[in-house]
Amino acid sequence: MELFAVPDLPEITAGDDIAALVSDRVDLRDDDVVCVASTVVSKAEGRAADLDDFPAGPRAREVAANLEAATGDEKDPRFAQAVLEESTELLMESPFLLTETRFGHVGVNAGIDRSNVPEHDLLLLPTRPSESAARIRDGVAADRVVVTDTCGRPFRHGQRGVAIGWAGMQASRDWRGEPDRDGRELGVTVENVVDELAAAANLVSGEGDDGTPVVVVRDFEWGDHGGSDRHFRDVDGDFVRQALRGWEFDA
Ligand code: GDP
Ligand code: MN
Ligand code: MN
Repeated sequence: MELFAVPDLPEITAGDDIAALVSDRVDLRDDDVVCVASTVVSKAEGRAADLDDFPAGPRAREVAANLEAATGDEKDPRFAQAVLEESTELLMESPFLLTETRFGHVGVNAGIDRSNVPEHDLLLLPTRPSESAARIRDGVAADRVVVTDTCGRPFRHGQRGVAIGWAGMQASRDWRGEPDRDGRELGVTVENVVDELAAAANLVSGEGDDGTPVVVVRDFEWGDHGGSDRHFRDVDGDFVRQALRGWEFDA
C-alpha cells in the first residue's frame, strides 16, 4: 500500500471543482482511495465565513462569557454563535466548546477552523461531508473517497486525521466471526477503516502551509471481510457522551 499527495493544487475558492483539479494532476485507478481534507471541500463549497455573519444572541453571549471566566482568555461571542448554529448539541461548555455537528460528528468548536482561510475569519465544515465525498467520487476515476478533518480525540493529547464523510466504501471492516491466530473467534472487532485511512492521509497532508490537501491511497485492499457503515455513535450507546451530560469543569 502506498500514499502520495496530489501535487501542485492551487488555493481553492468557492465553486472550484476538486474532482477535476485532482484528475488533471494524477492518473487515478479505480481501486484508489482519494482522501480530501475538509478544508478544501469547505472552500470549494463556499463555507468560508466571517464573524460578522454571526451576530451573537443571548445564549452565545452567555457561552462566551462562561468560557472567558473559565479560561481567562478573551472569547468572541460571534464565534460562539457560529459554533451553536453549526451544532445540534453542546456537550461541553468549558474549558472549550465540544459539540455535535448537524451531520453527527462530535468535535471542538463544531470543527470550525480559523487557520488556512485567506480573506475570511472562519471556515465551517462541509454541510454534509458524505454527500461531498459522493460528488467528488462522481468526478474522479477512483471508486472511493474519504473527507477528513484534523481533530483531537478523548483520552489523548494532540490531533490526528479522522473521517467525517466517505463514499464508495463502507466505514468499517467487520472481523467478527473470523479466527485469530489461535483459532478463537473474534467477537467484537469492527475496524474503523475510514478513520485509519484519514489518519494516514493527514500524516501526508500536514497542517501548515504544505499545500497538500488531497492524498491518494493506492493498493489498499479491503480483503474478504464484511463491512458496516456505522461511524458516529448514537447517543444511546455512547457512554462517554452520557457521562459528559451534567459534568462541570472545575478549573
Ligand atoms: P483540515 O485538516 O481539513 O482542517 O485542513 P488543514 O487546514 O490542516 O490543511 C490540510 C492541508 O491542506 C495542509 O497541507 C494545507 O497547507 C493544505 N491546504 C489548505 N487549504 C488549501 C488550499 O486551498 N490549496 C492547497 N493547495 N492546499 C491547501
Ligand atoms: Mn479542520
Ligand atoms: Mn489538518
